[in-house]
Amino acid sequence: MKKNISTLHDCYGCGVCIKACPVKIIHLRENQNGFYAPVIDEQDKCIECGLCLKICAFNHNKIAAETTGNISFAAWSNDENTRNWCSSGGIGFEIGRKLIEQGYEAVGVRFDSEKNRAEHYIASTVEDFMPSVGSKYIPSYTAEALLAIDRHKKYLVTGTPCQIDSFRRYIQHFKVEDNFILLDFFCHGVPSLLLWNKYTSELTQKIGKITFASWRNKSTGWQDSWSMNADATTGGESIDWHDSYNLKIRGKKHLYTSRKSQGDLFYRFFLGNFCLNQCCYTTCKYKMLSSSADIRIGDFWGKRYETNNQGVSIAIAFTQRGKALLETLNSSCTLIPEPTDIATEGQMHKNAYRPLSRDKVIKALRTSLSLKQIYWTVIFPYRIIGKIYKTLNKIKS
Ligand SMILES: Cc1cc2nc3c(=O)[nH]c(=O)nc-3n(C[C@H](O)[C@H](O)[C@H](O)COP(=O)(O)OP(=O)(O)OC[C@H]3O[C@@H](n4cnc5c(N)ncnc54)[C@H](O)[C@@H]3O)c2cc1C
Repeated sequence: MKKNISTLHDCYGCGVCIKACPVKIIHLRENQNGFYAPVIDEQDKCIECGLCLKICAFNHNKIAAETTGNISFAAWSNDENTRNWCSSGGIGFEIGRKLIEQGYEAVGVRFDSEKNRAEHYIASTVEDFMPSVGSKYIPSYTAEALLAIDRHKKYLVTGTPCQIDSFRRYIQHFKVEDNFILLDFFCHGVPSLLLWNKYTSELTQKIGKITFASWRNKSTGWQDSWSMNADATTGGESIDWHDSYNLKIRGKKHLYTSRKSQGDLFYRFFLGNFCLNQCCYTTCKYKMLSSSADIRIGDFWGKRYETNNQGVSIAIAFTQRGKALLETLNSSCTLIPEPTDIATEGQMHKNAYRPLSRDKVIKALRTSLSLKQIYWTVIFPYRIIGKIYKTLNKIKS
């Protein structure tokens, strides 16, 4: 087999190889485990230039950018609506707004209800950038947006740390780093699209065709806030944030809300790590301060803002350009310098734990079993076995 991206397995699925390939033979498709992966149908057309492997973050042990220092802030938008709609303090949106005003285009992630997927897209106006508000806790389809980027123009590119690490390699290779500001976030990992497809298909039967989905909602406060709301994209209804991890989906018949704190199954599977991408457990190199971005954002969990009901973001600048950009936000945002160890207190220090049942869960997600059935027949028995094992180990020691 020719030496190209198709020889890698269980990669990040960032799609940057599709952008880099000079003969455009790489495609991004969902694999059998429900994650995007690069595929080459016509191997004979490969010219073996090696660029796909050169820019691939998964193909390298080290990250593309060496972080030399950082400056951390607790941050939030001074605009109440923005802060309400976003996952934490709305700092991601404010960074995009500022750069668009300066003539950049912004590459963000929106939810496409027709295709039932999260996808990267390019926004040239602040209004266009609004659908990027709010985290979509599923893998995003990057190919179309990446192909549309003109590397001689100026862009903000947002994404998971692995997407951004490959993209940094791409702009380093073409020596166009000055045209780009890169933004990533502290990343838990991404769950399988098999979970998302099953969850939304079960829901469609109850509420009709889903026209909007969002993963966070602050109506009962930020600490418990995972949910979705249609009006976030049109600038209508405002949501109170400091609530719970909950899921709110707008279908044709009525609005559906389901909170993690009340046992929502999407969040149980996702945050229980039962069906993350294989690389999220084993080959994620991006926890804590390991990043190829100019700026990393996140939820400011931890003690400092635990009584804040509206949401507080972390913003960490790793580069001079990132730092200079954060300084320009002073008129639209509140930025409070915080020691980095305080800012990152609530973040994952290492990769997600891989439950024993993970492969069985992925397999079951491919069947006609409902999520509830999978929970009780696959996940639950393993949890009991795990508990017995732990207790026996305690007794032994
Ligand atoms: C899969 C995933 C896991 C995360 N894990 C953590 C975590 O462990 N700890 C933590 O503090 N924060 C995590 N975040 C980030 C967090 O949800 C918020 O984005 C962050 O607090 C910033 O909030 P905000 O209000 O400024 O921005 P938001 O309004 O949430 O927007 C953040 C940016 O993320 C981009 N984005 C949204 N969905 C995706 C996606 N699926 N793929 C790529 N880019 C996307 C958007 O384009 C937007 O620019 C995660 C986000 C995602 C998508």
